Amino acid sequence: AKVNADQIWFNGELMPWENATVHVMSHGLHYGTSVFEGIRAYKTHRGTCIFRLEEHVERLFDSAKIYRLNIPFTREEVMQACKDSVAQNNLDSAYLRPLAFLGDVGMGLRPPVDANAELMIAAFSWEAYLGADALENGVDVGVSSWNRLAPNTMPTGAKAGGNYLSSQLISNEAARHGYTEGIALDVNNYVSEGAGQNLFLVRNGILYTPPSTCSILPGLTRDTIITLAKQMGMEVREELIAREALYLADEFFMCGTATEIVPVSTVDGIKVGTGSRGEVTRKIQDAFFGIFTGETEDKWGWLAPVK
Ligand code: PMP
Repeated sequence: AKVNADQIWFNGELMPWENATVHVMSHGLHYGTSVFEGIRAYKTHRGTCIFRLEEHVERLFDSAKIYRLNIPFTREEVMQACKDSVAQNNLDSAYLRPLAFLGDVGMGLRPPVDANAELMIAAFSWEAYLGADALENGVDVGVSSWNRLAPNTMPTGAKAGGNYLSSQLISNEAARHGYTEGIALDVNNYVSEGAGQNLFLVRNGILYTPPSTCSILPGLTRDTIITLAKQMGMEVREELIAREALYLADEFFMCGTATEIVPVSTVDGIKVGTGSRGEVTRKIQDAFFGIFTGETEDKWGWLAPVK
């Protein structure tokens, strides 16, 4: 199905949706050779702004570096292309999907050393990933029978297309069991992350989140929450989390660019805290969404106006 993106930026120019196509012999299609980003633009008190654009573009180049993919554009060009994609489609808020992949560079696992990646950026409307009322009412999640990728197999620090095969196993299984999303344990069976979200627990007023060594994608929403929580005087601990801690938390929420910040009501059918959104979760949400209304001062330069 076609998402609502009229003009797609592809290899240096904006073009109509219909023209942004690739060849069936693309390396990325056969071997998963792609890295991508998910970014949001919000309608803010300063006009339409892309949230943490610089850090997202940096992560795209980091992911490409791990897989030795050469993106033939500068970071500045990519940032400008993201802004143009939002502005030219007349969107006042948007989800942006930059994707770098190897096209028709020939078969065989090892691409020619001088092969350049192709780069596309689509900007389109995308409402809350886990449903509109999830932000307030929370979601039901279950621990997956699938583990997250083990260290030194496929690096979860790269946001690579292939990693999302693992995410699909986790997410599909969760849906089959009637859950909104699945939570994965890492290869040592400590809590890792959701299929497409990081997670936080709150117990006795302290925030806990798995460290980057637990096979997580180091999320920018996670980083934003850590920064905002500390600034509000809350204690944040990045430490190993055992599965049962999910059941005993006072509050539990998941976070990501598409998901934003969503409270968890039940895990494996066990009620978390009161089963509805907790105070700490609400404070974090308010601080987060306050960045876009101006109620939270943007001390960090996180908002990039699209024009
Ligand atoms: N983990 C995974 C596997 C993800 O796909 C995402 C979404 N990009 C996240 C965590 C959250 O990252 P971010 O806050 O940067 O969107």
